[in-house]
Amino acid sequence: MQSGVVIKALNSYYYVQDNENVVVCKIRGRFKKERFSLCVGDQVEYVLLDDGKGVIENILPRHTLLKRPLVANVDQVIITFSAKSPDINPVLLDRFLVLAEHSSLKVLICINKCDLDDKEDLTSLIRLYTDIGYDVLQVSAKHHIGIDTLKTTLTNKVSVFAGPSGVGKSTLLNALDPNLNLITGCISDKIQRGKHTTRVAELLPFSEGGFVVDTPGFSFTEFSYIDKFELGYYFPEFEQARNICKFNSCLHEKEPQCGIKAAVDEGIITEARYNSYITILSEIKNMKKEF
Ligand code: GDP
Ligand code: ZN
Repeated sequence: MQSGVVIKALNSYYYVQDNENVVVCKIRGRFKKERFSLCVGDQVEYVLLDDGKGVIENILPRHTLLKRPLVANVDQVIITFSAKSPDINPVLLDRFLVLAEHSSLKVLICINKCDLDDKEDLTSLIRLYTDIGYDVLQVSAKHHIGIDTLKTTLTNKVSVFAGPSGVGKSTLLNALDPNLNLITGCISDKIQRGKHTTRVAELLPFSEGGFVVDTPGFSFTEFSYIDKFELGYYFPEFEQARNICKFNSCLHEKEPQCGIKAAVDEGIITEARYNSYITILSEIKNMKKEF
């Protein structure tokens, strides 16, 4: 039996990368029943047929599963924003962080277009996130700043690039690996990107080893599958203060003796992050009410 990784799913065919080759495979009927049974990123075993096509026989155990986009075995999320045009939207950044934490993925915050940065607001923003424990990397795709560091981070990993459009994700991917241009930069892909119709992710082989996943068309603003009582756990800096809350079921809103609110008053947790928490919390609560 041969083995490889599913890099693309299209019209019930699965494209399996096996070293240098990509083998077009079908799957055994039994996999089709389960919704998350086989997805991009899965390590599979397959049998190669005489016509050069394959039949997938086994899915190997996965270590992570990102739900939207649906990708198995992702190692890290590169949350990409730009220093300027568009400016960083910290609430949006916190939304991406919550979704990454929910999937238990390692996160790198990547700030592109650092060539446009006038160093005013960005320093305190970067400090805020590094204090929480996140890695923040400033790069410029256009001026090739920080690209080699980012390249090292991506090597031999499966990395998902997430972030709002216009921050320079495509430019950055092309700067990291000009070969990716062939796949991400083609006209049909850009058209799809504009229409936000792309709902399937694809693993793009990275020249240094590993894969990158671009996420055009994914808004990352969908919190319906996160429980309101879970949300606080996706803010790493809430961990200590949570133990002080009087109630186990504390949502850190208006409850008395809340450790989180006390920590905000003391400046241990920033108001900005607390406000992001409250914003997302109320969205989750409103969503649930509709049903
Ligand atoms: P995407 O929507 O995130 O894929 O963004 P694009 O890669 O299409 O880039 C959006 C715009 O930002 C383009 O006009 C790029 O030329 C520009 N851009 C990308 N990277 C940089 C950078 O490092 N510095 C500057 N000044 N502009 C950049
Ligand atoms: Zn509380």
